[in-house]
Amino acid sequence: MKAVNKKIKNYNYHVVEFYFFVLDMFSNRRVVLSLFVVVLFFMPSVTNRNEFPTYRVVLDPGHGGVALHPMSVHGDRYETIFRRYLDYYKEGAARGALREPVIVYSIARKVEKILKLLTPGRNNTKFYQMLERYADGAPRKIYLITSLSRDRSISENEADIMDDPNANYRMFDYPDLDGRIRPGRISRINEGKPHLVVSLHLADAGPQDFEGMSPVITPPYRFLHEGLRYLQMKQKEKKFYTSSPYRDWFVEETTRSDFSWFLNDVSLYFTGYPLMKNKQTDRRNFKGYRYNMVTWSYADSPGWEHAARYHIPSSRYASSVKDFVPDGRFWDRERSMYEGFRRDGGEEGFGGDNAYASYEIIRYVCNSLNLHGNDYRTQKPGKSYISVWIMPLHVNAINAFIELGYLNRSRDRYLLTKKQDEIAEGIAVGIFSLLAGLEVKDKKFRYMPRGKAIDFRKYGISEDENYFNTVTGD
Ligand SMILES: [Zn+2]
Repeated sequence: MKAVNKKIKNYNYHVVEFYFFVLDMFSNRRVVLSLFVVVLFFMPSVTNRNEFPTYRVVLDPGHGGVALHPMSVHGDRYETIFRRYLDYYKEGAARGALREPVIVYSIARKVEKILKLLTPGRNNTKFYQMLERYADGAPRKIYLITSLSRDRSISENEADIMDDPNANYRMFDYPDLDGRIRPGRISRINEGKPHLVVSLHLADAGPQDFEGMSPVITPPYRFLHEGLRYLQMKQKEKKFYTSSPYRDWFVEETTRSDFSWFLNDVSLYFTGYPLMKNKQTDRRNFKGYRYNMVTWSYADSPGWEHAARYHIPSSRYASSVKDFVPDGRFWDRERSMYEGFRRDGGEEGFGGDNAYASYEIIRYVCNSLNLHGNDYRTQKPGKSYISVWIMPLHVNAINAFIELGYLNRSRDRYLLTKKQDEIAEGIAVGIFSLLAGLEVKDKKFRYMPRGKAIDFRKYGISEDENYFNTVTGD
């Protein structure tokens, strides 16, 4: 395979150009997706000899499908132990005519349009002209292969006449109409081995202390493992939680404390089961082994369902945290230093490169809005939403996951509907800065981006292998 790859390298740009040519011509998403996979398969990992470094970026606008009944047919979170969907499709926030999936898709398409100026073989002059407003000096030259994680959102009318309207939108792998397991969104993203995935969301309403734009992050294993030890009564102190930067845990409903929700999510993360208020395992609400619901190198070997079905105690399939043992490929991944780089410490002092990438893009969005004459008190980087979120955990790339705003706040509605171009420009410049670095111009702006590129060398395993490439076996 290696020899073939080398031969094909020189033709990459023609393949890519051909891909975009086809993309323009067809709106058929099956053609687009399969070509996407073919093109990425032939792409070199980071650098291309004699040329600029090439990075792969996926823009991931949230949702897109519909929360149709019955769940047994149209749901998401398909688990293969008992072959059933565990959840309804999550269609996102809505307020009147404003729908989250439509807004974030529109913004993502605008970002894509800007970033495609950096596609190999295209004229990048306009992109570098745009950078002059943001940066001093001459920015580095890079190539980007940019793609979207999904097609445009489906309407309920369209969904009514389709057999499986959520087919192209599910997060997890799912059975097609013939019962064959198909890759869901996470698997398709990982298949393309991107360096950076930018997930865009917004919410209907938010807690009062959350203002502006907020990162959505999953904390590192070492912190979640402390929670496991607490539940296993191997430690009684809560200090590991109260003194950590991850203590502001996401509260689903205020009937329980943040620490109670933290313990609930620790149980969910390790065993697949949530906890009831009295800390007992909630056996009726199994959420599945999420790492086995995607196609990647970190899933258990085929046939794992036989062991999992019996929830054997003192194994990774134990149904209670009390006798849970984190062994196997996924838990080795969780303990790896690469996951530490992605999710712990780093530029922000917490949340690793995922948090840095999210905050940096948010700062560039604020910067862009400011440069275009829009400034406002609540237009700012907000606090992070911290929990065991699916995307930042199971995407094997740097994941900037951003809640762009709230539909129940008029200022946010104004920005999200009237200032999409400015938001998109900020996101595009932010992505470039994370990959190439930028010497930021307006040093007086109060949310000035840092301009520092992510250090991808630390994810290098060897000369031609890096962490992002290990996500599938080929
Ligand atoms: Zn969302």
